[in-house]
This record gives sequence, structure tokens and C-alpha cells, in this order.
Amino acid sequence: MDNLRIHILPSAVANQIAAGEVVERPASIVKELVENSLDAAASRIRVRIEQAGKKLIEVDDDGSGMGKGDALLSLKRHATSKISSAEDLYAIASHGFRGEALPSIASVCRFEMLTARSAATGSEDAVRILCEGGSEAEASPAAPRKGTRIRIRDLFFNTPARQRFLRTERTEEAVIVETLRALALANPAVGFRLDCDGRKRLDAASGQTREARIVAIMGADFMSNQIAHSEVYDGVHVAGFFALPTHHHRDGGRMHFFINGRVVRDKQLISALKAGYRDVLFHDRFPQAVLWIEMDPAEVDVNVHPAKREVRFRQPQSIRGAVVNCARAAIEQMGQQVSDATTSQALKAMRGGFSASRAASFRQPDAPSADTSTLQRLFSAPADAESVCEPQLDYAAGNLHLGMPLAQIHRCYILAQSDDGIVLVDQHAAAERITYEKLKRDLEKGPLVCQALLSAADWQPDAAMSAWLHEHADALLPFGFEIEARGEERFAVAAVPAMLAGEPPVEMAAELAASLRSAGSVAEGRSRVLERWLGNRACKGSIKAGRLLKTEEQEALLREMERTANIAQCNHGRPTYVRLSLNELDSLFGRRG
Ligand code: ADP
Ligand code: MG
Repeated sequence: MDNLRIHILPSAVANQIAAGEVVERPASIVKELVENSLDAAASRIRVRIEQAGKKLIEVDDDGSGMGKGDALLSLKRHATSKISSAEDLYAIASHGFRGEALPSIASVCRFEMLTARSAATGSEDAVRILCEGGSEAEASPAAPRKGTRIRIRDLFFNTPARQRFLRTERTEEAVIVETLRALALANPAVGFRLDCDGRKRLDAASGQTREARIVAIMGADFMSNQIAHSEVYDGVHVAGFFALPTHHHRDGGRMHFFINGRVVRDKQLISALKAGYRDVLFHDRFPQAVLWIEMDPAEVDVNVHPAKREVRFRQPQSIRGAVVNCARAAIEQMGQQVSDATTSQALKAMRGGFSASRAASFRQPDAPSADTSTLQRLFSAPADAESVCEPQLDYAAGNLHLGMPLAQIHRCYILAQSDDGIVLVDQHAAAERITYEKLKRDLEKGPLVCQALLSAADWQPDAAMSAWLHEHADALLPFGFEIEARGEERFAVAAVPAMLAGEPPVEMAAELAASLRSAGSVAEGRSRVLERWLGNRACKGSIKAGRLLKTEEQEALLREMERTANIAQCNHGRPTYVRLSLNELDSLFGRRG
């Protein structure tokens, strides 16, 4: 016989290798098991974790369960009830697809499964399956039950190298919690419960609406600071809950995407959502949002990632367009609400402050007793008192959104009276937004209008920047900058954008050059560069900070604000103005029952 060097791997080894892809960490096991429970139509799923999954992962469901034969088969590679031909792969409606999860998982732990098939006639005999490190599975009779319970003990006990790749328990546990939060959000009808080392980490009742589930998982604060919007675009249906830009987040963990009900974390989707928020969010912050995306299953290939996290779209531009459009439409609607939300927060804070100071002054023993009749006259001002001041303000009620300016406060805020209350404008934040929107509009039309400096400003960048500038000095031209080389590491700024003529020229040029450099060659669009540049710039507060404004200037600013897109937030997502309605003012002063 030939001396064969090639042999087929024993199935236990093949499974362990597959496990390397499917079972990256304890959280991936949780995900696979919970997805199986969802596919088995469970109405509640309970997960117990010990030592971040290293000691125990238990998933208990009340789903359809399995009979003995199926239970044994489920641990075989490529054993699945979910697809039967390669064609099925292109229209997957369940969470499973290649029958790899259970055998892979069972090959790297001590595995136990209790299950019984719930037929219409009642549950058949229940079975207990044991499997140690991928050995031949053993079945024995078990007590009757509804659904399936799987216990994973001693994860990676037989593959110590994999164990060493695990991060700290705290990290692994956090990833498990995040995984379950996403699954729970995606499936509001299913009850979820997660306990880690006996501590409850997540608890959501079954049969919830999307809204109720969002409150349970994202918190009431998210719910009261978001706008729900849905849209159909190119056959893609997006239903999203979008947080106000002011509720941005430091990382991307608060962006949830579900495609046809499955949890997806996909770079294209994240980038599309960020693009939707681009104009209203500082570039290194992330929005918070929950998006349900429904599309023809044949348009999305979920079979590209072993852990089924990433997907491939047949028409990526459709899905991007759908997400960007939906987010933008939601943000446009927010304009009004941003200020209202901020206002109600401000109102709460003010109420707290007011009642405290009131209580204090009332307690003063020797406070002069108030002349009640004067007080009464002052506070219950007759209705015609208002009509006396209205004409003086020359106030065209109803036409003006932000009202007429009354005063500038601390060179920082403009107080205005609107038709139904008062408006406080952060002049700096508002000017920032107006400038940005103007520059953006102009930049779309062509190069920015530049203004030559009386004497060119000397600029001595470091070696790396100098090298870049020698090659790319023209790159600043569209933005209204003229740069002249004067030496190896010496340049001059000869002209700046007319709209920013009052700003320090070298600083501006340096920041723009830095933005352009980090944008790479030409890959990034101009408005993106503009956003990054001005985003950083305005942080330094050099646009109209603390300037005394004449009444005409105040009014011009208000009118300009009304004409400006996305005016409710500055470039960093902070509000530009807050409103207090008469009703709110009344309740602030306790004038309403
Ligand atoms: P896949 O989910 O890709 O089909 P798995 O290895 O995850 O592959 O599961 C194999 C099969 O075992 C599934 O197709 C399903 O029929 C069955 N199964 C797994 N978990 C459960 C469960 N909790 N309840 C009922 N059936 C299950
Ligand atoms: Mg599965």
C-alpha cells in the first residue's frame, strides 16, 4: 500500500478548528445559543453566566425543542434544520445557516443539553445529551420539559491556547452583556433575562413593543430624547429611533442595526448612520440610534462571516441611501425638539434652583415683610400690561420664529421675546453654525472667496507638514487659502477665506492642512474636510466669542438663524438656543394650578 501522507482530520479536530472561527469568545457562544433559541420560536430566554462564561454559560429557552434523534444530530457538523440546499442561502430568514455552531462549541467545552420536542400532542420523551471536548455524544432519558437548556462548562479546557486569548473577565462579561442587549432590542416580543455570577444584568419582559423594549434596554432618557422616523428607499424599509445629536456618545456601542430581525454590526451601516448625522455631530463622537431595516432577503448575503456579524449587500448604495436619508429626515424634524428637550432640562434645573432660593429667603427671620398689595399688583399684572409693551417692541407676532431681541446678556446670550414666550440664544454657538452652513454651501458651488492679507503671514511648519505642503500647497486653494513657499520649512499665508478674515491666518491654515492631510489624498469630500477643520477650529471659541452686539446685529443673527439649516445645534451638537413658553414661565413662577 502507498505510504499516504494526506489524511482526513478526525471530526473532533475539524470541529475545534471551525470553533476558532465561530467561537471567538464566550459572548459568541451566547450569541449562537440565543439565536438558536430564537429560531426555535422561544418566548422567553434565560441566560446564566459564571466567571464571564469561562466556568459556565447556560441558555434556557421555552422553544420547540428537539427529539432524541435531532438532538444527537444537532451536534454533527453541517447538521441543520434551517436550510436544505445552497439556494436557500440566498434567502435566509432564520439566524442559523451552516449547522456549525453546536458541534464547534461542543468541541471546546463540557457540553450538556436537556431538550424535548413539543409536539401538538404534548412533549415527547425528554433527552439529556452529554459531550466532552467533542467526544461522541451520549444520550440518556431526562425529566420532561418545555424547550431546551444548554450548559457550556469549562470553556476551552482542552484548548488552553485559546483560553489565553481571552481578555479580562470584566471585558468578556461586558461583551456578553452588550451582545444580549442587542439581541433583546432586536426581539422585543421575546423575554430576556441575564444573570452574571448571580447578579441580574438584564431583564426584559416578553411581549413588549419596540418602544417598551428600547426603554428597557436603552433607558428612558434615550426614549425621551429621540425621534422615530421611518422611510422606504429603493425597496429598503428603515424604521429608526434616532437620538438627538446632543445625546452623542463616545463610542459606537449605542448604534444598533437589525436587518430582517437579525443583529448586524456592519461598517457600511455604521458609516451610513454617521453620514446622516455628519452635519450636526462633532466628528469623533457617535450618534445613538436603533434601526430596524427590512429588505428582500435575497438582496443581502449573510453567509460571508462565520459569526454572521458582517453582511454583504447586493446594492450597497441602496442600503446606504436608505439609512442616510432616514437619519437626515429624523434630524430635520428634530430642529424644534432639540431646543424643547434642552428647555425642559433647563426648566427642571431652574425649578430646583428657584425653590431652593425661595425657601432660603422665606426662612430669613428678619426679612422685611412684604407689602401684600404691592406684590399682588406686581405679580398679577393686568392683561393689558402686556399689550402696552407689545407695540413698543414692534413685534410681528406669528411670523418670527425666534422673536425680537430684547437684550444681550454677559456678551454671550441674546434674550428675545417670541410670540409665545422667550428665547435665549448662545450667540457664539449660533454664529458657529451659521458660518459652517454658509461655508459648506459656498464650497459646493466652487472655491471659497478669498481675501488677500495686507502682509503675508509667516508660517514655519514642522518637517513633515512642510514636505506635505511642498507637494500639496494647491490643496488649500479651494478653501480660500493662498500659500507661498519661502524655503524648505518656511511658507507664507497670502490670502484667507473672506468669511474668516478676522481669524488668525497661520493657525487656520495649519489646521486646515492637518485636516486635509488626515483625509488622505482626495478620498474624502471637501465638506467632510471642512467639517473636521471647522469642528476643531470652533472649539477654540474664536468665532464671535464674547463680542458686544448692537441690537441690529442681534436681530440680524436671529433672522440668519431662522434661515440656516440645522440651526438648533452648533457644530459640536450643543444646542444653539433654548425656548421657554409662556406656559413654562407661568409654571416656573407657580402661576398655574
Ligand atoms: P444552525 O443554527 O446553523 O442550523 P446549529 O449548530 O446552531 O446550526 O444548530 C443545529 C440544529 O440544532 C439547528 O438547525 C436546530 O434544528 C437545532 N437546535 C439548536 N439549538 C436549538 C434549540 N435551542 N431549540 C431547538 N432546536 C435547536
Ligand atoms: Mg445556530
